[in-house]
Amino acid sequence: MHIETLAIHAGRQPDPATGAITTPIYLSTTFERAPDGSYPNAHIYTRESNPNRQMLEQALAALEGGTAALTFASGMAAINAVAQALKPGDHVLFPDDVYYGLRELFRDPFGAWGLQASAVDMTDLDAVKAALRPNTALVWVETPSNPMVRITDIAAVAALARGAGAQLVADATWTTPVLLRPLELGADMVMHATTKYLGGHSDLLGGALIAREETPLFERIRHVQVLAGAVPSPFDCWLLLRSLQSLPYRVRAQSAHAGRIAEFLAEHPAVQVVNYPGLESHPGHAIAAAQMAGFGAMMSIQMHGGEAAAMAVAAKVGLFTRGTSLGGVESLIEHRASVEGPDTPTPRDLLRLSIGLEHPDDLIADLAQALA
Ligand SMILES: *Cc1c(COP(=O)(O)O)cnc(C)c1O
Repeated sequence: MHIETLAIHAGRQPDPATGAITTPIYLSTTFERAPDGSYPNAHIYTRESNPNRQMLEQALAALEGGTAALTFASGMAAINAVAQALKPGDHVLFPDDVYYGLRELFRDPFGAWGLQASAVDMTDLDAVKAALRPNTALVWVETPSNPMVRITDIAAVAALARGAGAQLVADATWTTPVLLRPLELGADMVMHATTKYLGGHSDLLGGALIAREETPLFERIRHVQVLAGAVPSPFDCWLLLRSLQSLPYRVRAQSAHAGRIAEFLAEHPAVQVVNYPGLESHPGHAIAAAQMAGFGAMMSIQMHGGEAAAMAVAAKVGLFTRGTSLGGVESLIEHRASVEGPDTPTPRDLLRLSIGLEHPDDLIADLAQALA
């Protein structure tokens, strides 16, 4: 079935008790045992499994074309569960402009815990090859990357990881299964901060991991999920499952709007660079065109005039909201370096834009007056 159909139907059925088409929220933490001691509905206790989480995980696995999904209370909780499923002495290779929370987590606490982690330019395949170690257990990719919007060739990096006996995880938060299919390109797992596009309305926090096959590593992550319990609430599962229904149409429209806005910004004299893979001038344009079904709705711009000019634009927008995060129906603008802290590699002249579902002409008019 096509993704539009899966988005609406996967994981759902009318409520068996009442016939309700919209699934109820099962707040119960515990489930009744039969006189013979069995659990007739398979649920025992909500940390371990819950009907809303089960439906959500089935839907996410279907949308990614995977065999199983695990959901978490946040994107970082999903990354944390992956790290906890590795062993002290294992090495993880990640992109040098990876989501800053991952870099921090692998430094502290997992550095002290004995996990090795190092950064590499994932767009440079020779550098990736040279950075792989005999103990590399995991290669992490994020494409487009955050906030430099660099493009990684997933199939090529997956082949290098496989050759080194490592698994490949793709953080596909920025693309969603609508625009990128990491499992089909050779990734072993896909990770999402469902807080972003999958949630889509800036009103829930969540994370997910979807596996191509249920490997021993995935089973260890499942063990961490149910034992450590950083699971999403039934209400957050319900909200997210509802949001998935409109995902293909939201993401395609947001991506189309972003293409128009990137073209406007690329022509503007106050803007030095527009980092957006849909522009032919972008160094990753050809790879993005080959591996993505659209260029996404995230971009960053670097201003002539440095940090002061960037801050002035952020101060003058009216329709864009100044704020962190991304992927919601409303457009956001953010000076990324100042939110990431003093030792960030993010350029100080950079603004990150998350393009929403407003009319693109209105967004362009807002940017035009802020840049003037
Ligand atoms: C937001 C984000 C995360 C972390 O997700 P949270 O839900 O905030 O914990 C991880 N990766 C990327 C690419 C993100 O944008």
